[in-house]
Amino acid sequence: MRRLLVTHALPYANGPLHLGHLLGYIQADIWVRFQRMCGNDVTFVAGEDAHGTPIMLAAEKAGLSPERFVAEIKQKHERDFKDFNVVHDCYHTTHSPENRRLSERIYRALRDAGHIARREVEQAYDPVKGMFLPDRYVKGVCPNCAAPDQYGDNCEDCGATYSVRDLKSPYSVISGAAPSFKPSEHYFFKLSQLQDSVATWLDGAQVHESVKAKLREWLDAGLKDWDISRDAPYFGFAIPDLGPDAPGKYFYVWLDAPIGYFASLLALLDGDEARLDEFIGAGSTAEMWHFLGKDIINFHGLFWPAMLRGAGLRQPTGLAVNGYLTVNGAKMSKSRGTFIQARTYLDCGLNPEYLRYYFAAKSTPGVDDIDLNLDDFVARVNSDLVGKYVNIASRCAGFIHSHFDGTLAPELPEPIQHHTTDSVVQSGESTYDLEKFVAAGKQIRAAYESRDFAKAIRQVMSLTDIANQYIDGVRPWLLAKSNRTSELWGACTLALNLFRFLTVYLKPILPALAQDAESFLNIPPLSWADADRPLLDHVIKPYKPLATRIDPAKIKAMIEASKENLAPMNPTPNHSAAEPAQDQPAYATIDDFKKIELRIARIDNAEVVEGADKLLRLTLDVGELGKREVFAGIKSAYAPESLVGRLTVVVANLAPRKMRFGVSEGMVLAASGEDGRPFLLWPDSGARAGMIVR
Ligand SMILES: [Zn+2]
Repeated sequence: MRRLLVTHALPYANGPLHLGHLLGYIQADIWVRFQRMCGNDVTFVAGEDAHGTPIMLAAEKAGLSPERFVAEIKQKHERDFKDFNVVHDCYHTTHSPENRRLSERIYRALRDAGHIARREVEQAYDPVKGMFLPDRYVKGVCPNCAAPDQYGDNCEDCGATYSVRDLKSPYSVISGAAPSFKPSEHYFFKLSQLQDSVATWLDGAQVHESVKAKLREWLDAGLKDWDISRDAPYFGFAIPDLGPDAPGKYFYVWLDAPIGYFASLLALLDGDEARLDEFIGAGSTAEMWHFLGKDIINFHGLFWPAMLRGAGLRQPTGLAVNGYLTVNGAKMSKSRGTFIQARTYLDCGLNPEYLRYYFAAKSTPGVDDIDLNLDDFVARVNSDLVGKYVNIASRCAGFIHSHFDGTLAPELPEPIQHHTTDSVVQSGESTYDLEKFVAAGKQIRAAYESRDFAKAIRQVMSLTDIANQYIDGVRPWLLAKSNRTSELWGACTLALNLFRFLTVYLKPILPALAQDAESFLNIPPLSWADADRPLLDHVIKPYKPLATRIDPAKIKAMIEASKENLAPMNPTPNHSAAEPAQDQPAYATIDDFKKIELRIARIDNAEVVEGADKLLRLTLDVGELGKREVFAGIKSAYAPESLVGRLTVVVANLAPRKMRFGVSEGMVLAASGEDGRPFLLWPDSGARAGMIVR
């Protein structure tokens, strides 16, 4: 029996979970459930990543203490995890006494072993806000290509990386003020000293070759010492033992975030550090697996193993790295309604296990991005789960109850080719082979072990085809009609046994559906060992539908709800590389303004749009520019007939936008306050359609 500690990336506690987050969490949960079904001893922990500047500022904006802010987000995350059947042994937070204790322990061990250095650093400082600014909180003009509004460390336009000092016309995204540059003493983890030990660890670690190659590239380039301190104000843990002359130094969020894995485990062990060391001590025989997104492999594949080695602790056994999630072949987008929150998916009545199934069907050990194609999602779930897998039980269970008092036959039919010449049973022949199912189980198990869930599902689905072909061949309904009861009994018993095998193989992915199937079969929870012998002479319960088809209308509703749901959320798929939440003040030049062509328009016609809650379709007369059709979200505030004949202001050179109801060829301007109620602009009397507004 193996002993495993399994973690997944800690969600950053500043916004709701979306489907992109769930991908890695679900992969971890599937693997954990699989290992447990094989009889291994697994501890599965995670928690909130609670520290850092983005959370400090988001809490401030929300008018809450950071502790309170994080606690509220944690509660929401936990609800999402529970509803998607991602079940941890402990879900904790990095802002916990356990994490403070372990962060201090590891820091002191590093310091005492000579791995910590102090160095003066000059950093951008916001004189209005009174705080040092991380590079992401400074914007300005790219020194390379002169693109405006680029971050302090790199340009998204030309891809250049640079020092924040080189940025032209810099401003703080928090206050808008020009930053000054102030020196401050920082603490560094001397990664370069541990570089060789990281390389050695990497050689032996279970990490996908493509990830290893990337990590080796960084190692070959040489690791620079890593700045692990931040100055107050900061939400995190104060660096210990600094004495009164060095106040206000905190651990950088990424120093204590991975230690948070251990903190969750320590909380699970009621603070017993001796038991914790059975997992994390240098001599531990347990396996340690981290599931994470590819955006944070440097932290988990370089810094973390170096920290552990430097502190005299064990290093990870393996990293399971996932790619990003795309939806319908593109990056998740708020305007397209594909930036879908976990809660929105659930609120639209979609079964969480169907998403687990689809993610699994696309999951390989590699780090390629995974596409959630929504049409394919519906087709695949309806065909695989409802049409094939569940169908096996629903086709045969009724006969067991109507003819055999709900009892399975005492033995299986002979495993030979089943030739029939009978005129009633005309299928000719039908074959089955229980051994085939047992043998396939070994391959499926190997696929799960290597986290190739896509391969496991391919094999399971080919078995469901065999099972359905068997039923097609023996035709239980005809056997029943012609009173061939012993054949009927054997055939249905066999089919339900094939269903039971398939349930074992799908259970890590579909735990709730498997539980319903176990209840129908009237058996204790299935483990992997159950997939080597049949269930015979056993009373089952009446069959109730185990799965229903996805109604595509629910997908449409989810997309619509995601379009409206533009509340602030973490824009990055993983962890604490979060962007600043603030809107940045930035000036538009007169040239910028001139790019927008504003014209007076006369509303020739206005009508409601069937199927749209908020929109009116306006036909506008824009003078020399002719007629335009524009959709405006003003239905709640204006009766269509009250608008006809009135003048208003339209953005005349806006790129036409294709909407569900047609193409919108412009935008009318309206004012709105907190409640969102629109107030259209009217020009003063004398204005005529087509006039330019400037
Ligand atoms: Zn640039």
